[in-house]
Amino acid sequence: MKEYMCKKWEEIHQDKPLFISLVSLLTLAVIFIVWGFVINTPAYSVYADGKEVCKVKKVKEVEQILAEIKEEKEGQYKTETALITKFEFCRTFASKDQVLAEHSLKKQLEKIALFNVKGAAIVVNGNPQVFLASRKEAERVLSRIKEEGKDLEEGEKLLELAFEENVTIKEELVPANKIVSPDEAYMLIKTGTESPEKYIVKEGDSLWLIARRNNMYVDDIMRANNLKSEYLQPGDELILVKSKPLINVIARVEGEKIEEIPYETKIVIDKNVPYSVRVKQKGQNGEKKVVYVAVKKNGVTQDREIKQETIIKKAVDKIVVKGTKVIVASRGSSTVRAGKLIWPVYGTITSPFGARGGRHTGVDIAARTGTPIKAADSGTVIFAGWQGGYGKFVIVDHGNGIVTRYAHCNKIYVSTGQRVNRGDVIASVGSTGNSTGPHLHFETLVYGSFRNPLNFLR
Ligand SMILES: [Zn+2]
Repeated sequence: MKEYMCKKWEEIHQDKPLFISLVSLLTLAVIFIVWGFVINTPAYSVYADGKEVCKVKKVKEVEQILAEIKEEKEGQYKTETALITKFEFCRTFASKDQVLAEHSLKKQLEKIALFNVKGAAIVVNGNPQVFLASRKEAERVLSRIKEEGKDLEEGEKLLELAFEENVTIKEELVPANKIVSPDEAYMLIKTGTESPEKYIVKEGDSLWLIARRNNMYVDDIMRANNLKSEYLQPGDELILVKSKPLINVIARVEGEKIEEIPYETKIVIDKNVPYSVRVKQKGQNGEKKVVYVAVKKNGVTQDREIKQETIIKKAVDKIVVKGTKVIVASRGSSTVRAGKLIWPVYGTITSPFGARGGRHTGVDIAARTGTPIKAADSGTVIFAGWQGGYGKFVIVDHGNGIVTRYAHCNKIYVSTGQRVNRGDVIASVGSTGNSTGPHLHFETLVYGSFRNPLNFLR
């Protein structure tokens, strides 16, 4: 064994190339050490929550700057703060330009270091959603949201106002970087996003066009911007956001309003003149006082119930005398009564009856694609299919000369000849045919003439 080792040692001495490589290895090591100490300098790697963020010369530098930042935050939030980011240090070598100078180190640490401060969280259904500096600020934001949600019309008084969600304020330690200003909190709650896109209204713009271009809904834009009407002026600033409010406001209101009673049309058959049609008496709308209770969500009526109706002025029947050979839509005498029809879809009326210079033959009710359309009353489907500009179109005959029509549907669920009951889902809202966005174009015809659906809806 010993012999073997000696022999080996001899061999090494004799082996010149190996000797040379040993020397060069030593030289390399010296160069490396010199390079390490002269060009590189001993430093510390700084880890924030386990992630390397920078290199510093001394640990003390970091500690001092963190103490400075903490003091600044305490001044800013007027409350004690606690550092929540965990800092760790590790010895290393670094070239001089890798080691951060003090001023850039502070900037870096300000970005990284998270502090908890005493704040207030708005808790929605158990989830802390929005953080503010104080309970007072949170309360102010919530009362602003609530106040706006009631949106009373003339003659309406508030019965009840509440958040749909379970909303509470909780004082707690909150990461300082999550605290938002009351305005930001308001926006966040109303739209569900912190940084909504803005749009400046241009000449010739309309809500429909803006909604269409941004793949949005008119009622979303109206809600996010608290618009009371569709009227826009160039230069107006709109927030474009697909609003998904974090908190919804439900208001129950009682209202009193004068509504029109549309006149009825009576048909009298004159056997003596088979082909003539003449108006014997002109119709005249009446007036009634309606007392109702409505439920509004974020200011938009969801449901309305008539409590009391008082006739102020009776309507005067229109009397039409027709010959026996004239085909009339009537099935017996007409008993059109206001409030007989139910809303096929609840939503904002984005274009009233008679708009567009009197050419608008129905009302446009804004609603999302797919919203169920209900039959306004019981009747028979007399058309279900595509009809030109109306797109997918349903017509329901309710008898007594009353027909309702539903245009621009996305899907139709009934077929011609089918009996439907009031409230049955007959189609869904879409934007088929000559339409610039999802909505229901709803028409009411009485003996073949277009009438304002609002006079019949309850
Ligand atoms: Zn329309």
